[in-house]
Parts: sequence; structure tokens; C-alpha cells
Amino acid sequence: MKQSQMLIPTLKENPADAEIKSHQLLVRAGYIRQIASGVYSFLPNGRRVLRKVEDIVREEMDKAGAHEMMMPALQPAELWQESGRWSTYGSELMRLHDRHDREFALGATHEEVITSLVRDAIKSYKRLPLTVYQIQNKFRDEKRPRFGLLRGREFLMKDAYSFNESFESLDESYEKMFAAYSNIFARCGLDFRAVIADSGQMGGKDTHEFMVLSEVGEDVIAYSDTSDYAANIEMAPVVAEHTISHQEPKPLKKVSTPNQKTMQDVANYLNHELAEGIKAIMFKVDDQFVMVVTRGDHEINDVKLKNLYDADIVDLATEQDTQTLMGSGFGSLGPVGTPKEIEVVADLAVEKLVNVSSGANESGYHYVNVNPGRDFEVKEYADLRFIKEGDPSPDGQGTIKFARGIEVGHVFKLGEFYADKMNASYLNDQGKSQTMVMGSYGIGVSRTVAAIVEQYHDESGITWPANIAPYQVHLLSLNPKKEDQKQLADQLYDQLKSAGIDVLYDDRKERAGVKFADSDLIGIPLRITVGKRAGEGIVEVKERVSGEQDEQEHSKIIEYVQ
Ligand code: ATP
Ligand code: MG
Ligand code: MG
Ligand code: MG
Repeated sequence: MKQSQMLIPTLKENPADAEIKSHQLLVRAGYIRQIASGVYSFLPNGRRVLRKVEDIVREEMDKAGAHEMMMPALQPAELWQESGRWSTYGSELMRLHDRHDREFALGATHEEVITSLVRDAIKSYKRLPLTVYQIQNKFRDEKRPRFGLLRGREFLMKDAYSFNESFESLDESYEKMFAAYSNIFARCGLDFRAVIADSGQMGGKDTHEFMVLSEVGEDVIAYSDTSDYAANIEMAPVVAEHTISHQEPKPLKKVSTPNQKTMQDVANYLNHELAEGIKAIMFKVDDQFVMVVTRGDHEINDVKLKNLYDADIVDLATEQDTQTLMGSGFGSLGPVGTPKEIEVVADLAVEKLVNVSSGANESGYHYVNVNPGRDFEVKEYADLRFIKEGDPSPDGQGTIKFARGIEVGHVFKLGEFYADKMNASYLNDQGKSQTMVMGSYGIGVSRTVAAIVEQYHDESGITWPANIAPYQVHLLSLNPKKEDQKQLADQLYDQLKSAGIDVLYDDRKERAGVKFADSDLIGIPLRITVGKRAGEGIVEVKERVSGEQDEQEHSKIIEYVQ
């Protein structure tokens, strides 16, 4: 490609709103441009890089036996009502009306769409297991879109879904996806770790996040210094001093919550009872807070309460309920009653004075308008921590260290949650109807691009790994007005192209300094400069990462590059 004809608007200065390197460099090097908060265009080079990552994802998904498809971004509300997520997903879901006033959502994820499709298309065990995927823009009205591609409101995701006959079969599909994810992030050149996504014992083996180690990551990983143990601690170690300011506390009210089967039923019921909606529910059993229900409420999110916004409803009442909900795809707090959950809800309730409900220690009843501090002692659990640096690792090996991570992928055993709600069943080999068992597997493709830049840059710009870079070679003609330089550069450009090498040719009428600076910024692994010695057929080659440079006979260039 000739740079003079391309849209690569480089900038000298960092954009004012860009706090982190990947955001700054991707904008400055002309890869992306923001169009609204958290919404970006990918310019030609940005598109190329995105496609490189997509292609790696595609190859590994295909190798793992998944099949690519494409689902609509526009999704009818009815589907989300069937799964219950229309009411539980919260304000992150972008909702809209059509001209007939029918409600829709823009896909934040596609469990509902794929479940409705598969339940109609598959009736027999003979068609299972099945894993499908798509690579498509997702929409989430994030409360704090920031950090460029790391947290967008429209972003590119690969989402895969497996349908299985049994939990054993799900384990196999999950493992295949897990292995594919490891390959994908390794091929992207990333320093990453797969971590247990639930900090506690329970959901542990059923969901993992793939974390790119980075100081700018919004997650904190607790890992053992000697073993493979690693878990997302969901920002645990912050406990504010509680100052309890009662803002006209409402009277405590005991309400009947009959026939609840799951905590979601309870939450739905109480939600109905409380016009403002439930933010959190604490349960008190045997004088101890043991349970937490949260609704995805995005007014009260902040980093510290991160796991609350992953969690739309997280469960509680019995272990079985917990298991059902843990498999729900709603995200996950830890197991029932971890100190962390209690702490989070206590903080939430105290700091934000949200309307809290609690168990009433009586079957079929709950309290609403619970005011922590007034109705329950807060201080006694404010000190609890889930895990600290220096603690012994839960696997008994080594001690715990903390690191920050960027969540680039997430694999999740959904179990029967969606299939159950949406009646996705099949006939087994005995002709008996069975509920399908599902898994879902996401990769933030655009976020991965940003994560790569976080790990591959220096003071001058991006230093792409060769297989991700938009081009293999950056060819510069320093002074295209000089006939010998122009001729040799044109000739090399043609030769490189015919040898099948991706080359960006800076043929612009710009000063040499501008070309070098732009070239470093854009970050293509190898630079070939045609300059003063063009007349002798000598060009300069320079490696972007090492800075090593060398002079080469132009006739040896193709060989050198290959
Ligand atoms: P986060 O905890 O960062 O909000 P999530 O847990 O809500 O992410 P998932 O529902 O697990 O995200 O979605 C699958 C993947 O999509 C994530 O692992 C992440 O890589 C990517 N992703 C999620 N939200 C965003 C976003 N706002 N912008 C870019 N990528 C995102
Ligand atoms: Mg997450
Ligand atoms: Mg999220
Ligand atoms: Mg996730």
C-alpha cells in the first residue's frame, strides 16, 4: 500500500482523554478514532490488525471443532424475557423500540439467540455436542467506557456456545475451548494467565478468565508464587472506614416471599415490592450474614464493586440454588457467604445507602428497607478479607502474590440455566426428553488488540509482534523528489509485493524526520529505508524492536526479508 493514498492520520500529541499507552498509541499512530464515548472506528491499519487477531481466533476455533456463524445484533426483547435477563441485565443492555413500539436490545451477548435457535433446530442426541461461534460487534452501555479499546460500548467479541448432552460432555467442550484460548493468546504473543474467575471454592472449576498481565488491568489476580494457582480476587482488599450516615431510613418492613424456588424468584418478588428496585440483599442466618443477592445496578458500580456489575443476580438460598445460578451466565460472586461478598455488600449498602433487603430468618419472609448499621452491625465484618498478599496459597503451595490483569477471555459452564428457562431439550438414545447443557466462551477481540499494545510498545511507539503487525515491512523513500531514490524504492515495492510480502510504502512528500517518527509510531517490525546511497543500490534495514540496523545491497532484500 502506498502511504500517500492511505488513511493513516498520525498525531504528534496524545489525545487529551487517553490515559493509557494502548489508547494513546492506537489513536496517535492512526489505527483508531473515537466517534462517541466508547465507540471507535477502525481505520485501515486498525482493521488489518483486528483481522490478524480475528484470524488467529478463527483458526483456533475451527481447529477445536467449532463452526463459525453470524447472529443478529438486533434482538427481540421477548427472548431476553424468556431467560429473565430483560429485567436482570440492568442498564448495560442497550434497549430500543421499533416503529411499532416493539422492544429490542442490541446484543450484549447471544445466549438467548443461540438457545432459541438450537432448541428449534436440534431435537436429537445424535446432533450433539455442537459448538458454534461468531465474531461480531457487541453493545454494552458501560458505566465507565474508558481506556480506548479496553472498555468500549461497542466492541468486537468472539462468542462461542456449546450444547451438550451431559455435564461430562460439557467438561470436554470446555476443555477444548480452554486449550484453544491458551493457543490464541500465546499466538498473540501475550503474557497471560488463566485464572479461576470465582475467588471462592465453588464456581472455581466452572469458569476461568484469561488475564493479560498488565498494570493497567482493572482486575486483580491472586496467584501462587510456586504453583499454577491463580484466581481473580475481584478487587478484594479495599475496605473503607464506614461512616454510617442514615439518610432518612425507611421503616423496616417484613414481607412475605412465598413459593420462592430460587433466589432469583426472591429477588424478582422483592423487586416488585420495592419500587426502586433491589440493589442488594443480605441474608442473616444463625446470626451470621451468609448470603448476597445483587442486581446489576449500574448506578452503584465502581471499580471496587466490580463483581457486582458482573453479577446480575447471584445466589443464595440453598447450595443447589447457588449452583443453578452460578451456572447462569450472570457472572459470579464467590460461593455463598464468602467474607468478600459480605464485605462488598456491606460496603455497598453503607456507602451508597441503597435499599437493602435481608432474609428474615423465617421461611418465606424477608425484610425490606434494611439499613445496615441500624438493623445489623456492620463493623464486625468490615475487617474481613478474602485473600491477602502473603497468605498461604489455597492449594497449599507457596504464598499469594497479587498482579493486575486485563480480562481478554472468559470461558463459562452455563449448565442448564438457559436451556431450562428457554425449553431447549433433546431426545436421548432412549427417546426421553432431556435438558441441554451449555457452555459459553468469549474473547474480547478488540480488547485483545489493546492488550497487545500494552505489552508491545516503547517510547517511540508500538512494537507489534510480527504476526499481528498490519504489515511485515515498512518501506521508506526518504526523498522521493530524487529520481534515483524514487526509482529504487518503487522497484523494491514491486518486488516485495510480488514476493507476497505485506509492505507499507511511505512515498509521501514529507521530511525524513516525519517519516521516521511515523514509522516508529506505527510499529511495523522491519523498516527498509531508501536514502542517500540509492545510487549505489544500497538501502538501510532496521528492526523496530531491537533498533539494530544494517546496510544491504538492494538485490539481497527479498532474501533478507524472507
Ligand atoms: P469486564 O469484567 O471487563 O466488564 P465481562 O466479564 O463483562 O468483562 P464477558 O461478558 O465475560 O465480559 O465477555 C467476554 C469478553 O468480552 C471479556 O472477557 C472481554 O475480553 C470482552 N469485553 C467485555 N466487555 C468489554 C468491553 N466493554 N469492551 C471491550 N471488550 C469487552
Ligand atoms: Mg469480568
Ligand atoms: Mg462487564
Ligand atoms: Mg467475564
